[in-house]
Amino acid sequence: MSNVHELQFLKEKIQELKDQGVYRKLPVLEGANEAEVILNGKKVINLSSNNYLGFANHPRLKKAAVEVVDKYGVGAGAVRTIIGNMDIHEEMEKLLAEFKREEAVMVFQSGFNCNAGTIQAVTEKGDLIVSDELNHASIIDGARLSRADKTVFKHANMNHLEEVLKENRDKYRNILIITDGVFSMDGDIAPLPDIVNLAEKYNAMTYVDDAHGSGVLGESGRGTIDHFGLHGRVDFTIGTLSKAIGVIGGYVAGSHTMKDWLSHRGRPLLFSTSLPPATVGAIMEAVKLLMSTTEYTDRLWDNAKYFKEKISKLGYNIGNSGTPITPVIIGEEGKTMEFSKKLFDHGVFASGIVFPTVPKGTGRVRCMVTAAHTKEQLDRAVDIFKTVGEEMKLF
Ligand code: PMP
Repeated sequence: MSNVHELQFLKEKIQELKDQGVYRKLPVLEGANEAEVILNGKKVINLSSNNYLGFANHPRLKKAAVEVVDKYGVGAGAVRTIIGNMDIHEEMEKLLAEFKREEAVMVFQSGFNCNAGTIQAVTEKGDLIVSDELNHASIIDGARLSRADKTVFKHANMNHLEEVLKENRDKYRNILIITDGVFSMDGDIAPLPDIVNLAEKYNAMTYVDDAHGSGVLGESGRGTIDHFGLHGRVDFTIGTLSKAIGVIGGYVAGSHTMKDWLSHRGRPLLFSTSLPPATVGAIMEAVKLLMSTTEYTDRLWDNAKYFKEKISKLGYNIGNSGTPITPVIIGEEGKTMEFSKKLFDHGVFASGIVFPTVPKGTGRVRCMVTAAHTKEQLDRAVDIFKTVGEEMKLF
């Protein structure tokens, strides 16, 4: 066999990963995503999932999924523009629009797909995309698929954003400002009121990826736009159905015009099969549950506050998070990964995140507290953070 078919070029790249100490196998979870799990054969407290409300294994969502499967089957059978657009897809979008307090919602197969499809569809040559430097990878990839020019502004820096807008306003047809609502590595909330004011001042459009704000911030988890009372002033709001909602999928909320256009030019919608019925049934149940009670969002915030207070009292630096995302910043890359490994050995899974995902020297384990954790589990996790911190002489 030739070298090409042995994928020698990839073997060499994999060796490079090994030499850099960043090679790893995918961790294997035995069973459902819950607060305490068996991961790689070991029982650990799970502080690494986006299952904010514990919906991923919620009995009501599971029951709803099964009921829908009985009537609609397991697959949608086609892309939405052909015959994959079932009445339940339409119903789900109406429900999400009501939840998000927007005119219309278009659902895609994932949050990633939604960013990739929407950014590309609403911008073209002669436009400018202005993106926060810490925006999620799916925004970066979505922007790459667009023929618009791109530039970044310094993270949450409104002076810099204004400079960029001032300099470019007259050079382009449309300007699209893109920001995460909540930044996934630090848990900080974007200064949306200021961004929206600048957008209005410079006649630019706004696009907020609220993957980590939906189901978390605002009334009953309606998201960051609701948290700041900015309904009607943001053109495109992205949410995922894979994090707080606990299932899979992504959506963009905005105007009827937006939805109409995406149904013609949202490429993942035109060329990839729509969400399967079970997923749609579970999503609708999750949204109904969220709209009927604040029990889950209340518990999420209560747990997050409880955990953060205890961890920071131990002497750890937990950054500037305004949400349940709790970065425990260790600093140096090797030390961060050692810390994460020792936590695992003692019974906590909190994944280590280092350069290039975060800037050099700011390695952290990212803790995701959820509504599903008990206080007892959080106490045990805190004890383990204390033990490992002492072992490594971190304080
Ligand atoms: N945007 C942000 C900010 C995210 O954190 C993620 C998930 N990591 C996505 C989009 C992609 O969402 P999904 O997992 O639903 O594809």
